[in-house]
Amino acid sequence: MRRTLFESLTHRPLTEAPPAPDDAALAELAASVERAARRRLGRSLAIREVDAGSCNGCELEIHALNNAFYDIERFGVRFVASPRHADVLLVTGPVTHNMRVALERTYAAMPNPKWIVAAGNCAAGCGVFFESYACIGGLDKVLPVDLTIRGCPPTPLELAQGLLWLLTAK
Ligand code: SF4
Repeated sequence: MRRTLFESLTHRPLTEAPPAPDDAALAELAASVERAARRRLGRSLAIREVDAGSCNGCELEIHALNNAFYDIERFGVRFVASPRHADVLLVTGPVTHNMRVALERTYAAMPNPKWIVAAGNCAAGCGVFFESYACIGGLDKVLPVDLTIRGCPPTPLELAQGLLWLLTAK
């Protein structure tokens, strides 16, 4: 125990160094998302996120959108607790049998217009969970997908780029 404590005080953390921030690119991207949302919806963009069976790696990147560095809410993109307030259903992970009904209910509860986004390789096509007995498959096996953002996991910038594409191209 004493040895572990001593090592934790004398060794550097094992986590990787953060990537160099690109404040200008993020600000420009997020401002574009905000403009597109106001033009398309007349207000900010509301997202309901559902983990359909992920390893939580995708969640970490999605949560990063709300941290002090990315702070995407300042550009009018909000994560909401209820699907009844959501424009976008953002889904991570392969769709597990256990989550199928919850996903379908969430989709049914969302008002129109609504978009479905598959975030990460698992939501895109089952990823590393391919052929698992617990999974139905990618999100498109259950819901009509409007946008797929690949990556394992996709970065916060890639997620923001995907949302912008959704608002401008769909
Ligand atoms: S895409 Fe990668 S990070 Fe995301 S849920 Fe699948 S394994 Fe985890």
